[in-house]
Amino acid sequence: MKKYLCLLIIILFSCNNNDENKIAIVIHGGAGIILKENISKSKEDSIIKKLDEAISKGWRLLKKGESSELAVIETIKILEDSPLFNAGKGSVFNSNGKVEHDASIMRGNDLNAGASSGTSNIKNPITLAADIMNHSEHVFLSGKGAEKFAKERNLEIVDNEYFHTEFRYNQLINKKNENKYGTVGCVAIDINGNIVAGTSTGGMTNKKWGRIGDSAIIGSGTYANNNTCGISSTGSGEYFIRTVAAYHVSSLLDYNNYNLNNAMSKVIHEKIGEIGGDGGMIGIDKNSNISMEFNTPGMYRAFVNKNEEKEILLYEK
Ligand code: ASP
Repeated sequence: MKKYLCLLIIILFSCNNNDENKIAIVIHGGAGIILKENISKSKEDSIIKKLDEAISKGWRLLKKGESSELAVIETIKILEDSPLFNAGKGSVFNSNGKVEHDASIMRGNDLNAGASSGTSNIKNPITLAADIMNHSEHVFLSGKGAEKFAKERNLEIVDNEYFHTEFRYNQLINKKNENKYGTVGCVAIDINGNIVAGTSTGGMTNKKWGRIGDSAIIGSGTYANNNTCGISSTGSGEYFIRTVAAYHVSSLLDYNNYNLNNAMSKVIHEKIGEIGGDGGMIGIDKNSNISMEFNTPGMYRAFVNKNEEKEILLYEK
């Protein structure tokens, strides 16, 4: 009897240990011409501080046993509320001098997803994407319809002016996409092995004609499947759409036995790079391995891996 009791305790202990080890989270704040010599020390410090705040928030939630969905939403909200990134508050201007957001989220256990594009008054577009996933019969809402839905869901509505920053306005005036691309994204795996990925952006400076980027498109900017991985992208959206980038990575794991590193490297450097696209992506696979890949000089990124090691990086290593 005593022997069986000991065995049971050992099994319970090792199960618990495995569960603890599964938690992992990774974020990006955009890829682009991010060079140490072009960024002031104080801006560098602010970016590192904000990435730290965001990743720590998500990690703490996962550690408490909360879902990866909550961790991804809360982490992205912190980045959206900061003027430092091209999402929410710090978004770029379109050609009409207006800010328009794209966002998406996907859950890996049931392949449910939500996405929105072309909204201009939702304070935290990631919460709209999540509400579309959880509280509508649709996956993708755009423009006025998406804003109407957000109002019905009592999401925080703000005037477009709230998103106006001088830094981004100057980029529009000078037709510059400096430090492109500042989109934000997060992928997390929780104690139950559930993977969720989310992405939020203002898109590209000077975008025209209701342009929609990859960040709003499930399979391009965002994808999650518990059997393979979760991915969030940043970069020249048109190329990520044409290569179905996020789903492409998942498919390489699913059908071709790639590991996450190799799959992301193939998509970023071969599939996207070879047709002229640039940018990067972050991902977590079903075994909680993290990968971050980009073909630009830098990508704002941070992670806490399954060994509880935290890293915050801005430039090429
Ligand atoms: N991928 C985004 C877009 O094309 C831009 C970015 O990553 O900053 O809209």
